[in-house]
Amino acid sequence: MAEGSLDYLKEHLDELERAGTALHPRTLESAQHARARFDGRDVINLASNNYLGLAAHPRMKEAAARAAAEFGAGSGAVRTIAGTMSLHTELERRFAAFKGADAAIMFQAGFTANSGTVAAILTKEDVIVSDQLNHASIIDGARLSKAEIKVFPHKDAAAADALLEESKAPGRHQLLITDGVFSMDGDIAPLPALVEVAEKHGAVMMIDDAHASGVLGKNGRGTVEHFGVHGRVDIQVGTLSKAIGVLGGFIAGPQHLIDWLVNRGRPFLFSTSAPPAVAAACIEALNILEESPELVERLWDRTRFFKQGLTELGFDTGQSETPITPVIAGEETKAVELSRLLWEEGVFTPAIVFPTVAKGSARVRTIVTAEHTEDDLKEALEAFERVGRKLGLI
Ligand code: PMP
Repeated sequence: MAEGSLDYLKEHLDELERAGTALHPRTLESAQHARARFDGRDVINLASNNYLGLAAHPRMKEAAARAAAEFGAGSGAVRTIAGTMSLHTELERRFAAFKGADAAIMFQAGFTANSGTVAAILTKEDVIVSDQLNHASIIDGARLSKAEIKVFPHKDAAAADALLEESKAPGRHQLLITDGVFSMDGDIAPLPALVEVAEKHGAVMMIDDAHASGVLGKNGRGTVEHFGVHGRVDIQVGTLSKAIGVLGGFIAGPQHLIDWLVNRGRPFLFSTSAPPAVAAACIEALNILEESPELVERLWDRTRFFKQGLTELGFDTGQSETPITPVIAGEETKAVELSRLLWEEGVFTPAIVFPTVAKGSARVRTIVTAEHTEDDLKEALEAFERVGRKLGLI
């Protein structure tokens, strides 16, 4: 090992520290609940993606424990060698039915579902037309595919139309791709307009429903169900890590797409499959979603309550339409201070700053879950009011 060979990283880290953008994740010392213990402090937790409170739901814990007892802690192999367990295939059947698709395939994360799929279905001859605010995993997949990447302004279907038109060529495949719910702003993609554009150009339509599965549509079936555009989206991505409460990602679509990903989806081929407890808990989550529509209703009920509270106080909550509600502070330092003062008041809302969001639109991001009570949210709103006044935000 050459002495000092990695010292340049220290310099980069120092730069991040000086800019105030270095990350120092807090440590969760309890289960992931609406009130949880982070770094030794009990706080109202507005920071998780545990939309339905399934991460530590008693039935989920039981399902995971049962599967671990029967099938062990790990799967022991990649899917294509010896790591396809009956729990994986059962979960895939269930997820395909949940999404109204022919078939589905599980990946180890939502991230690899996106990146592995985009990379597997396009080549350097092809083009990907992608919303400006799409998730990093889509961007990485696009880069891996070597396809030409064309980015349209956020939610601008007419601009997507123009990009598809200008990049048309015989034999060239085109992919139009969007997040269903955007993770930093909480707004919803204009899916009906995008679907029309994709159909007009014969492009493949793909939607990343990481923040919409378990949140939008009947029983949380996602954006396709929310807009009633069944059969018009080729590829639906879901994550098992957010509303479903566990870990993993999904692609739902036609059987030949799924068969192709079994053969060419690199994370599927070259990375060990999910442990049995993960798959079993995900199956239980789908059972709970199907049996208990009131969970999703409660999520929306609490979301409306909290959003209304923030709006009445006079906060800028941007374009949010979902349980993700940003509270926009503007300058980076203001957002960091807002997050810090809320933390001192016992409310955990992380600051989100450049480069994750544009300069001047730094914010704290709040996520309400079905587990929050109105009392939790009232208490959080009181803290927002005190801190907001102190910082001159309201
Ligand atoms: N897509 C979007 C829009 C996301 O927000 C995330 C999670 N940050 C992912 C994909 C990746 O999902 P996972 O956490 O399951 O890897």
